[in-house]
Amino acid sequence: MITLNNIHKTYFGAAPLHVLKGVTMKVEDGEMISIMGASGSGKSTLLNILGILDNYDQGDYYLDKTLIKNLSETKAAEFRNKYIGFVFQNFNLISYKTALENVALPLFYRNISRKKRNNLAMEYLEKVGLAPWSHHFPNQLSGGQKQRVAIARALITQPKLILADEPTGALDSVTSYEVIDLLKEVNQTGMTVVIVTHEQFVAEATHRIIRIRDGVID
Ligand code: ADP
Ligand code: MG
Repeated sequence: MITLNNIHKTYFGAAPLHVLKGVTMKVEDGEMISIMGASGSGKSTLLNILGILDNYDQGDYYLDKTLIKNLSETKAAEFRNKYIGFVFQNFNLISYKTALENVALPLFYRNISRKKRNNLAMEYLEKVGLAPWSHHFPNQLSGGQKQRVAIARALITQPKLILADEPTGALDSVTSYEVIDLLKEVNQTGMTVVIVTHEQFVAEATHRIIRIRDGVID
């Protein structure tokens, strides 16, 4: 699913910051892996590159055998749409839209009728156990419920790859387990899952732990 060869990334701020210094890794189809590392070690940078949200300076990134390099914004968006679902620490739900509308949103860009979008969104809310909350707004939901809405939104386009950046970072440990269990179920349907976390118990729920230190994989 993913092959990274010798990926380098430098941020050019006031002083250049060489964050990734030759990252090489593979993720197989259907794997569920975690990426761990100290704060500031480049985990989000790496995930953003995997998610084609950011470019890299050197090396090669193959996603499902396609070289992802110097893509135009349109091409990058096309690949993201087709392949990738994102889950973030802070859920990134739209506050003035209901749970149902948030889940349906990715379909809006696909010329799917409103009725069909809403039916599908309801189906995915059911999958994450939130059908009764479909007309609630994010501020009426608990953290765990918000993250389940965000996961339903990530799943609705049936991506091959789910990228989650500290998905349990804002949740208590009981709720974290629920979210991880849900991601495990997602993985069992065949989707590849990559989770950035600094929590050992989250990492241990995955098949394999990758550690990033000093800009390389340990
Ligand atoms: P992590 O997710 O492991 O905490 P990040 O990938 O977010 O680490 O950041 C790695 C380093 O790069 C940090 O020192 C951070 O401050 C810096 N950094 C992240 N994004 C940017 C950016 N857009 N511009 C400049 N520096 C950045
Ligand atoms: Mg981060």
